[in-house]
Amino acid sequence: MRAMVLDSPGGLLREADLPQPRPDEGQVLIEVHACGVCRTDLHIIDGELAHPKLPLVLGHQIVGTVVDRGTGVEHISLGERVGVPWLGYTDGSCRYCRAGRENLCEHARFTGYDIDGGYADYTVADARYCFRLPEGYPDLQAAPLLCAGLIGYRALRMTGDGKRLGLYGFGSSAHLIAQVAHHQGRRVFAFTRDGDETGQQFALTVGAEWAGGSGQPPPEELDAAIIFAAAGELVPAALRALARGGTVVCAGIHMSDIPSFSYDLLWEERTVRSVANLTRRDAEEFLALAPRIPIRTTVESHPLAEVNTALERLRRGAFQGSAVVVTDAALRVKQADTDASIRHDRTRSPPAQSVSRSATNQA
Ligand SMILES: [Zn+2]
Ligand SMILES: [Zn+2]
Repeated sequence: MRAMVLDSPGGLLREADLPQPRPDEGQVLIEVHACGVCRTDLHIIDGELAHPKLPLVLGHQIVGTVVDRGTGVEHISLGERVGVPWLGYTDGSCRYCRAGRENLCEHARFTGYDIDGGYADYTVADARYCFRLPEGYPDLQAAPLLCAGLIGYRALRMTGDGKRLGLYGFGSSAHLIAQVAHHQGRRVFAFTRDGDETGQQFALTVGAEWAGGSGQPPPEELDAAIIFAAAGELVPAALRALARGGTVVCAGIHMSDIPSFSYDLLWEERTVRSVANLTRRDAEEFLALAPRIPIRTTVESHPLAEVNTALERLRRGAFQGSAVVVTDAALRVKQADTDASIRHDRTRSPPAQSVSRSATNQA
């Protein structure tokens, strides 16, 4: 099978011909159709997350079809469409798992980091961490729900019931979570890189009532803020924007150092916290909620072999919304997807929004 492989941090992903993996007990073999590109991939490639499996197939927002099952898998059928997220394995027995906090499992393993992921024609996954995806989301539009959506949703929960919400770093996650927050009746304030007027205009179309550069103060105090960008200097900036008792949630897996700041910024019961990984409960809740809003994902697509281009465009902030790579198998099901969305349009199901780019029109 074709796969895009990281040999060592600092390099590009290399196209390779690998043997098709086989599902072990409790695992399924998935024919990958689409896989969302995530900033975490860049942290792994750049060596900022220190211990990836090597060589490694990255990719942890996988959409595909189950084509084989190991022993003991009963709740997923052959031919079923599933999504695979970042959390790929837990032991189920450590004190965090037993307390319903499997996102903090002491022996957790992560897709596209400890386990080969979705930048390949096939992947195997622990069946416990495969999720049914809402109908009405074609593969491309479903992929960003699996990390940008899920972990963003967990971060949103951690903000409590704050009405005025700041989103710092308006990329894949923020464009989905702004829609959830808006749906919940919150007021969304979007912060992009300073001077990114295109990003600010985009934010206003997906639920933000105000958008500006992250160096700007919001027009009024915020009750909570989520930082999706990997820039530590946004922590004091977000604290400065908070009302008393407000919370700053850091949603990324890696961030540059946070500069020192005056205790005054934290005083009056302000909180800074991180969000790590996801639980199956987060996934079930979010995937049920997405079509009810409905969340629309703005996606640009790239062929699997051009994942390096997608990652470089992510690094430069060169697109709005999410980037997704697609395999050859996705082209075979494209017609079926089209038929499905036509069916769904008739029944008033979520219209997914797609900005599709081919390799030739990016230059
Ligand atoms: Zn991710
Ligand atoms: Zn555990």
